Amino acid sequence: MTTGGVALRLGPTPEARGDRATGAGAAGRSCNRETGHLWFNVELAKKHPDSLEYLVVHEMTHLLERNHGERFTTLMDRQLPDWRSRRDNLNDAPRADEWRTSAS
Ligand SMILES: [Zn+2]
Repeated sequence: MTTGGVALRLGPTPEARGDRATGAGAAGRSCNRETGHLWFNVELAKKHPDSLEYLVVHEMTHLLERNHGERFTTLMDRQLPDWRSRRDNLNDAPRADEWRTSAS
């Protein structure tokens, strides 16, 4: 599959390694729009596959749109129409730093 140079990595996020912050590393995943690299903490493997798919699509969408604005939501709707329910299933304990403002 060609993804335009996107690379998926399992392992510590750049933030966890002490590198320059590039995203929501504390949430167990991160993206670098310059290199197209996405990182996912191996701990996320405990989550439901549907939720993991949401996380991958979420981070890949950040390669196109940095913020959680209207364009981001439109792109998510196009790629994963049921992303909201997948997100809700993922967030057993709601996170304050993700989707609190743009979620409808
Ligand atoms: Zn995000």
